Amino acid sequence: MTILLVLRQRMCGNRLPGLSSKFLNVRLMSSYKKYAEHKSLEKIRNIGISAHIDSGKTTLTERILFYTGRISEMHEVKGKDNVGAVMDSMELERQRGITIQSAATYTIWKDHNINIIDTPGHVDFTVEVERALRVLDGAILVLCAVGGVQSQTLTVNRQMKRYNVPCLAFINKLDRMGANPNRILEQMRSKMNHNAAFIQLPIGLESECQGLIDLVTQKAIYFNGNYGEIIREEEIPKTMEAEAHDRRQELIEQVSNVDETLGELFLNESTITVDDIKNAIRRCCLKRSFTPVLVGTALKNKGIQPLLNAVLDYLPHPGEITNYALKETGSEQKKIVLKSDRNGDHPFVGLAFKLELGKFGQLTYFRCYQGMLQKGDNIYNTRSHKKVRIARLVRLHSNQMEDVDTVYAGDIFALFGIDCASGDTFVNQPKLEISMESIHVPDPVISMSIQPKNSKDRDNFSKGIARFTKEDPTFRFFWDPDNKESIVSGMGELHLEIYAQRLEREYNCPVVLGKPKVSFRETLITPCEFDYLHKKQSGGAGQFGRVIGIIEPLPPHQNTQILFSDETVGTNVPKQYVPGIEKGFRIMCEKGLLTGHRIAGIKMRLLDGAHHIVDSSEYAFQLAAQGAVRQVFENGSWQVLEPIMAVEITAPDEFQGTVMGQVSKRKGVITGSENSEGWVTIYAEVPLNEMFGYSGDLRSSTQGKGEFTMEYSRYSPCLPEIQEKLVREYQESSLQNQQQQKKKN
Ligand code: GDP
Repeated sequence: MTILLVLRQRMCGNRLPGLSSKFLNVRLMSSYKKYAEHKSLEKIRNIGISAHIDSGKTTLTERILFYTGRISEMHEVKGKDNVGAVMDSMELERQRGITIQSAATYTIWKDHNINIIDTPGHVDFTVEVERALRVLDGAILVLCAVGGVQSQTLTVNRQMKRYNVPCLAFINKLDRMGANPNRILEQMRSKMNHNAAFIQLPIGLESECQGLIDLVTQKAIYFNGNYGEIIREEEIPKTMEAEAHDRRQELIEQVSNVDETLGELFLNESTITVDDIKNAIRRCCLKRSFTPVLVGTALKNKGIQPLLNAVLDYLPHPGEITNYALKETGSEQKKIVLKSDRNGDHPFVGLAFKLELGKFGQLTYFRCYQGMLQKGDNIYNTRSHKKVRIARLVRLHSNQMEDVDTVYAGDIFALFGIDCASGDTFVNQPKLEISMESIHVPDPVISMSIQPKNSKDRDNFSKGIARFTKEDPTFRFFWDPDNKESIVSGMGELHLEIYAQRLEREYNCPVVLGKPKVSFRETLITPCEFDYLHKKQSGGAGQFGRVIGIIEPLPPHQNTQILFSDETVGTNVPKQYVPGIEKGFRIMCEKGLLTGHRIAGIKMRLLDGAHHIVDSSEYAFQLAAQGAVRQVFENGSWQVLEPIMAVEITAPDEFQGTVMGQVSKRKGVITGSENSEGWVTIYAEVPLNEMFGYSGDLRSSTQGKGEFTMEYSRYSPCLPEIQEKLVREYQESSLQNQQQQKKKN
C-alpha cells in the first residue's frame, strides 16, 4: 500500500528548487513500511531539532525525511492550497511558523533508526520543551547564517545544558545574502559559551554556494541531481586549501584541549588519522565539552546528508545515556538505573511524554526506557494503578502512522485511547512500583479572561478548551464567579495567544482575550492558631462542627503548595468528617481574602475539635474549616507573593551599564554576568509584573542588538507598595460588586 501525501512547501516558500510554485506529490516508500524493529541500540538515535523560529528547522526536517527516503518520488502535481509541510500538521503552525507540538517521527539512515522528536523552541512552552528534551538523547541546534544566535537560540541552548543534551550545530541558509558562518561560530563561542569549531567549511557563500569541505576527511563535497541527492566527492579546491588546513588545525586543537587521547597525539606530533579525530569528537560531543559545527543550506539542498552522517557519528545512542526511575521506599526515594539493552530480559518501563487528541483520536506518545512491549500485553500506570491492554502499537511519521508488533528500550511509539496524564510511567508488572522522575509542571504565572466572540460557538469553545487543558498541564481554565468571566492561565502571553488562535482555527470559535494579569499568590507570614465552631441548631436539621489547630507557612521552596494534615487523636473529630475539613480548607485557598488571588505555601494542621452526635456532618465540618481559615485571615499576618522570572540578557559589552540600569529600574536583582569576546550575558531575577514591554526597551537601548529570554523561577514576596496597590484594587472592586449586587436586588 502506498500512502499519498501531498506536500506543499510552506507559505513562506521553502520550495525545492526547480518546482517554483507547483506542488509536490510525495509518496511513502513501500520499502519503508517496515520499521526495522529489532535493531541493536547502537543503531538508534533519538534526536531533537532545536532552533530559533525561522532558522529553517521545518525545511531541514523535511529534507531529512526526503534524503532518508522516508518521503520520496516527488513529482509535480497541482495540489490543494492548504496542505502543509510534513512535520507541520497544524494549521496555526503553518501560519506562524512556530512548531508547537512535539510530534515524533522516525526515519532510517544508513541502517540506523532515527527518531526525530520535534522540540518547540519558544520559552513559553516550557512543559512541551521539558517533555521533549527528556526523551531525546541528542540534538541538532539549527542556526541561521545571517541571524545567528538569537533569543530563542539562547533559550534552547540553556535547556539543552540543563538536560545535558549533547548537540551538533548546523549553520543553515549559507545561500542567503549576508551569510557569515564565521560570525555565527564566534557568537556560539561568545554568547553561548560553546567550545565549538567547524568540522565543515562552505565552498562559496550566498549565490556562489556550491558545496562544502569536510575538514575531518579533507574532501570537498558537492550535491548534484535535481534535489542534491547525488553526492560527489572531490579534492579540496586549490583556492581553499590554506583555509581548510588552518581550520582543521583549529578543530584538532580545540578538541585536543578537552580530549586527553587526541591531546596526547597532538602534543607528541604523531600522525592523527581520520578515526582519531572522529572518535575524539564523539567522546567530547557526548560529554558536551565540544560542539561540532556543520554548515549548509536546507532550502538549496546542500549539507543535509553529511549532517545525517554526523548524527550517527557524533550523537549518542540510547545505551550511552543513563536513565533513572524512582522507587519510593518509606519516606525516601531511591534512584534505579534502567537497563537499556534490547533483549527484553528486563521488565518494561515506559514514559508517556505527550498526549494528543487529533484526527486519530486520543493518542499517547511513549518512550520505552527498559524491556519490551508487544501488542496484546497488559501494562499498568504506576500512578493510578490502572491496567491497560495494548490493542495496537504504532509509530508515527508526522501525521501518518504505521502499526508495529513490538517495541524495545530506546524506541519511541504511540498507543491509542490510554487514559493517563503526560509524565505518567507505565510498567508491565503490577508490583513494580517505580516511576520515571515525574515531569516538573510549573505553576501558571499569567492569566487572561477569555470568551467566545459569538455565543453560538460555546460548544466548540468547551470542546477545544477541554482538549488543550488535557494536553498541556500548564494551560488551565476556570470560571471566576466574582467577575463572572472565564479565565485561562499559562506560562506567558504568547502561550495563551496561541491557544486563542487554535480555538479559532481548529474549533471555529473566535475568542476575545482580556488584558494579561500576573498570577499573584497570598501566603501566611507566621503560624497562626485557630479554634472555630460552626453551629446552626435553630430549627430543622442542625449543623455542628468545631475545628482546632494551626495554619503554618511552608518554607520558600514549597510556597506554591497547599498541605493538610490530620493530627487528631481520639474521637473528638470522627474520621469520616476529616475529608470535609480538608475540602473546606482547599476551597478557601482558591481565593485569598487579601487580594482575591489564590492562597499558597501554607499547611493546615488539624489538632482537635468537637462534634455533635446528631447535628454533625461532613458539610458542617467543611463550613467549620472555612470559618477557621477566615479566622486565621483576621488574626494572622499575610503577604502577597509574585512570580519571579529568571532573565538572561545578552548584548554587546558597551551596553552593559545601560542594561544593568534597566534591570534595576524594573526591580530586578542581578545574579551574575559573563563577558566573552565583546559580548556580555547578564543574569537577573525580575518580577514578571515588571517585565511587560521589556523587549521594546531593550531593543531601543541597545541599537537592536540586545536579546533576552526569561522563564519562571519561583514565587517570592512582593514589595509592600505593590501589595498595598493590589489590596486597594481588590477592596474597590469588591465594593463595586457589592453595590451592583444591591442594585440588582
Ligand atoms: P522554522 O520556523 O525554523 O521551522 O523555519 P522554516 O523551515 O519554516 O523556514 C523559515 C523560512 O526560511 C522559510 O521561508 C524557508 O523557506 C526559509 N529557509 C529555510 N532554509 C533556508 C535556506 O537554507 N536558505 C534560505 N535562503 N532560506 C531558507
